[in-house]
Amino acid sequence: MDAKQLHNQVHEYIQSKREEYIADLGALIEIESVGTASEGEYVFGKGSARAIDKMLDIGGGYGFKTENHDYYCASLIYGESQEEMGIVAHLDVVPAGEGWTYPPYKLTVENELLIGRGTEDDKGPAVAALYALRFFKDNGIKLPFSLRLILGGDEERGMNDLPYFLKTHKAPFFSFTPDSEFPVCTGEKGIGKLDVKLPAILENIEYMEGGTVTNAVAGKAFAVVKNISADSLKNADGISVEYVDGKAKITATGKTAHAALPEEGQNAIAMLASYLLDNVSLNDSERKSLEFLKITCAEYLGTQLNIQDSTELMGYLTCVGGLLKTVDGALVQNFNIRFPRSGSWQNIKENAAAVAANYGGVIVKDTHSDGYCFDPNQPEIQALTEACELVTGEDSKPYTMGGGTYARSFPNTVAFGSTIAKYRGLLGEGRGKAHDRDEYLSVAEFEKSVEIFVLSIAKIAEIKK
Ligand SMILES: [Zn+2]
Repeated sequence: MDAKQLHNQVHEYIQSKREEYIADLGALIEIESVGTASEGEYVFGKGSARAIDKMLDIGGGYGFKTENHDYYCASLIYGESQEEMGIVAHLDVVPAGEGWTYPPYKLTVENELLIGRGTEDDKGPAVAALYALRFFKDNGIKLPFSLRLILGGDEERGMNDLPYFLKTHKAPFFSFTPDSEFPVCTGEKGIGKLDVKLPAILENIEYMEGGTVTNAVAGKAFAVVKNISADSLKNADGISVEYVDGKAKITATGKTAHAALPEEGQNAIAMLASYLLDNVSLNDSERKSLEFLKITCAEYLGTQLNIQDSTELMGYLTCVGGLLKTVDGALVQNFNIRFPRSGSWQNIKENAAAVAANYGGVIVKDTHSDGYCFDPNQPEIQALTEACELVTGEDSKPYTMGGGTYARSFPNTVAFGSTIAKYRGLLGEGRGKAHDRDEYLSVAEFEKSVEIFVLSIAKIAEIKK
């Protein structure tokens, strides 16, 4: 069958199943599947386990083979072949948080939007994948491989679910994870974090702090300066000074931005360090600490830490000074680094350590996870891209990103769907996205996801024949 005909067929199919898929998604949204510590056999807690049980119940009811991998994750399988193609989604969610307009743990369908915690991330895409499997089964379409829908229970807290699966199963020859946006994401940068401990302060600076999280440019920073006469420090651009009990509290206000997209940010830690160096008398070690912060936090390419890098497919390394703390009288600066080349972390660490040492600093902690990178010309990637183009009618050039999905830890896997840019932001700023209040997936995104998944699988089936 040609792709256009198949598209029409699956389009009609999923519209005819609207009541059914809304009921299935509703049953999953009702389960508050926030991961917790293990409770008996429920390795990620009862919520995560209940969502897995419910999905196996639903999928088993439609006649798919079910496997529960001890509540780490579960599988629904269509087909008998040993060779498998995978779709990897997750059923755990992040906590609802405050400020919802709609009930987070009840599916609301309003103005063609499916609203509730997990609708977009990632229960909605998981159910869309289930309906792609149903389409093949209900229409008796045989494939040259089995389809394995893998449902994780711990994506949000640490991704400790899929490694358990890989202990006993071979990874499918190719998988996609609908936990991002369309079109295909062919690469994610590696993510690393470094804590640099700097020389002691406290003679003139009592305290200094900046940022609120490690994965964002610090939007605010402040310092408390001792031994200062009132009114000797003045406000400046982005800097305000208050005097309290013979001390000055200095606040710098820059602009925050996500660590994966730091271009729009302005780092308040660098602004503060620069102001203190110019206006406050400091001892030698205070001066060294601040000079290090001033140069490394003012930019986002890692040039000052001597870790700059870029590749043609993945773009450039970014390095953001996020969180600054005072610990036992010394400043500790955290850097969040998104790097394009897998296996390069050791180098990054060594180069950064050498620069820090020039200022008396040492790396006291580091963690990292490598990214992944696919050739956009690989046949499977082209199949996904063509399916996406046909269904959305839009140019669907693959993209790369600094973020992190299952694709970085599960073999042969790319992130693919399920959001589509033109259906985003319909509930206003700060609402509607994954992890936001009033999280939603539009009916259009859900149904187009099913269509794109089916067409992608059919195209890969053609390659494999
Ligand atoms: Zn997710």
